[in-house]
Amino acid sequence: MSPAVPDPARAGRADLPPDLRRRRLPGDGWVQCGCGQKHWGLYGAAGLLVWRRTDGGRQMVLQHRADWTHHGGTWGIPGGALTGTESAVAGGLREAVEEAGLVTSAVRVRADRVLTHPDWSYTTVVAEAVAAWQPSVTDAESHELAWIDLAAVDRYPLLPAFAAALPELRTMLRRLVVVVDAANVVGSRPDGWWQDRHGATVRLRDHLAGLVGSGLAAEDLDLPGATWCPEFVLVTEGRARTVEAAAPGVRVVAAEGAGDDAIVAVVAGLAADPDIVLRVATADRELGSRVAVSGARTISPRLVRH
Ligand SMILES: [Zn+2]
Repeated sequence: MSPAVPDPARAGRADLPPDLRRRRLPGDGWVQCGCGQKHWGLYGAAGLLVWRRTDGGRQMVLQHRADWTHHGGTWGIPGGALTGTESAVAGGLREAVEEAGLVTSAVRVRADRVLTHPDWSYTTVVAEAVAAWQPSVTDAESHELAWIDLAAVDRYPLLPAFAAALPELRTMLRRLVVVVDAANVVGSRPDGWWQDRHGATVRLRDHLAGLVGSGLAAEDLDLPGATWCPEFVLVTEGRARTVEAAAPGVRVVAAEGAGDDAIVAVVAGLAADPDIVLRVATADRELGSRVAVSGARTISPRLVRH
């Protein structure tokens, strides 16, 4: 005889009655959108796309959606409604903790992409796994969570909205590194830096550390999506050579000789990594043409200075 209410410890999670599937959060609900459709999430929604490099190529974490969910049985990414008091990035991470057992210290947020509707939006948070992490089913929304080879993803029946976003998302599974020409960026604004070049470079370094978290606008970088969270390599020269790397996400390289030569060498080394997308912050045109040989483009100093 089967019980009227399945035992959560024994039943398949998809068999659970709705009130046992998850706790209700403030943003849970449907929005009747100006586009004519209904969307889940009164304050919008967000999901987490995690990728990693393996010996055989790259993989992403996909979620096989439980039958009772919208488009049940398809594959997508962990995600859900925002609560209204959290950022989209925080919400995407929270959903992945709840649905996939995400260990947040195992990933670094690299970028995000925002799908904007008249009355709703969906943010895909793109993160790289930087430590070993095996996703697992931790609530009733999934049949399964798994690392899937990028080359095989198209063979899965995908959630329609995820399938529509995937071509662009595939181009976003990379790590942005911005090499900063410290002398050029510090010198791009006449704020008295020449009286204390070392101090001005320390201020630049600390400002860059803030940008690691807040990110740069994708359109300023000519990259897809909405925002990219860079890692920086700050190349110093002259009196600024003694500036230390005291900020997470900012590596400081002190040029032995000319700053430009050091920047060209750093760029050439990073360009060999296919997971890295490179930008060089400088207004120096000659340097720009030298780093272009390695495929790196320049961005305006204004994007990275305080
Ligand atoms: Zn809509």
